[in-house]
Amino acid sequence: MCIFCSIIKKEIPAGILYEDEDVIAFLDISQVTKGHTLIVPKKHVETMLDCEEETLAHVMMLAKKIGNHLMNKLSANGMNVLSNVYQAAGQSVPHFHVHLIPRYDENDACIIHFEESEKQDLDALQSLLKL
Ligand code: AMP
Ligand code: ZN
Repeated sequence: MCIFCSIIKKEIPAGILYEDEDVIAFLDISQVTKGHTLIVPKKHVETMLDCEEETLAHVMMLAKKIGNHLMNKLSANGMNVLSNVYQAAGQSVPHFHVHLIPRYDENDACIIHFEESEKQDLDALQSLLKL
């Protein structure tokens, strides 16, 4: 059974901050930083890539609204907004969710590190990937 579906059905408790017919937002049980929150559509889909557009738009609208609310209430200085898609990208709960991670400074407990790997031919990549 999906743990987020259990939270949505109120079978297990969570620190719910917001709820409407289609979306729920609750505190992440592992607070990477103070106020770390998850925005979750109630209909079970595995990832953002599977989510229907109307629901996705609603989730992102709430990410903005709740993100601003957390920033103001917690006097945060920044926020990471992210969604992990599949295990290879770090997804551990296979029910689409957006993380809101309030940031207080660059050296707090949220470590997101981008490093360049092998050099890519950007022209070739652009030809391959252009929509
Ligand atoms: P991800 O690794 O992107 O799939 O994120 C899953 C998140 O769900 C992690 O940050 C977990 O701490 C969080 N999580 C797992 N179980 C619960 C739960 N019962 N209540 C709240 N958050 C949870
Ligand atoms: Zn689910």
